[in-house]
Parts: sequence; C-alpha cells; structure tokens
Amino acid sequence: MTMAFADKSLTCRECGNAFVWTAGEQEFYQQKGLLHEPQRCPDCRKKAKAERAAARAANMHDVICSNCGKPAQVPFEPRTDRPVYCSECFEARRSAPPPAPASPA
Ligand SMILES: [Zn+2]
Ligand SMILES: [Zn+2]
Repeated sequence: MTMAFADKSLTCRECGNAFVWTAGEQEFYQQKGLLHEPQRCPDCRKKAKAERAAARAANMHDVICSNCGKPAQVPFEPRTDRPVYCSECFEARRSAPPPAPASPA
C-alpha cells in the first residue's frame, strides 16, 4: 500500500512567509508519528536551531579531561569532586562494558 502525498503550501508562524511542505517531508513526519504540520518555514527552523546551538555554546565550560589530560569543553558547570571527560573519553567510557560484578566468595 502506498500513501500519496502532495506538496502543500503553508504559512510560517514566525516570519509570515509562505513555504512548501513537500511530499517527502510529509512522509517523514508521518513515519515519525508527528500529527502536526510544521509551524515554521525551513529558514526559521534553521535559525532557531542555530540559536539553540549558540546558546549551548555560550554555556560551554573549559575543562581538562580527567582521563587523557586534553583541554575539552562540557555543556555543564564542572564539579570539582567529579571527573570530567573530553567527548572522546566520554564516548569510550560510555561504550565500554560496565565492570563485572564481584562474585560472591
Ligand atoms: Zn519563517
Ligand atoms: Zn580525554
């Protein structure tokens, strides 16, 4: 069974410009289970995304990785009683298997 989608013209809530919600995007939305039409044009969505990224970047803190000693940045206030890791070491630790539980004697 194939669902037919057709390009749809929508109006951006942010800038008021008309934009096309393409058939491909509609299919994508449906696959994701999203019921609502996009409220903003691709430009405004891109802008909002960039603003979120900038806000996150402004929140970055310089740290020294507790594992490899390289300078890194973390998106939270580092705590002195907790080790902090660069993204590489963080990923390596996260994907590493948890330590084996101590077997009862
Ligand atoms: Zn817009
Ligand atoms: Zn590291």
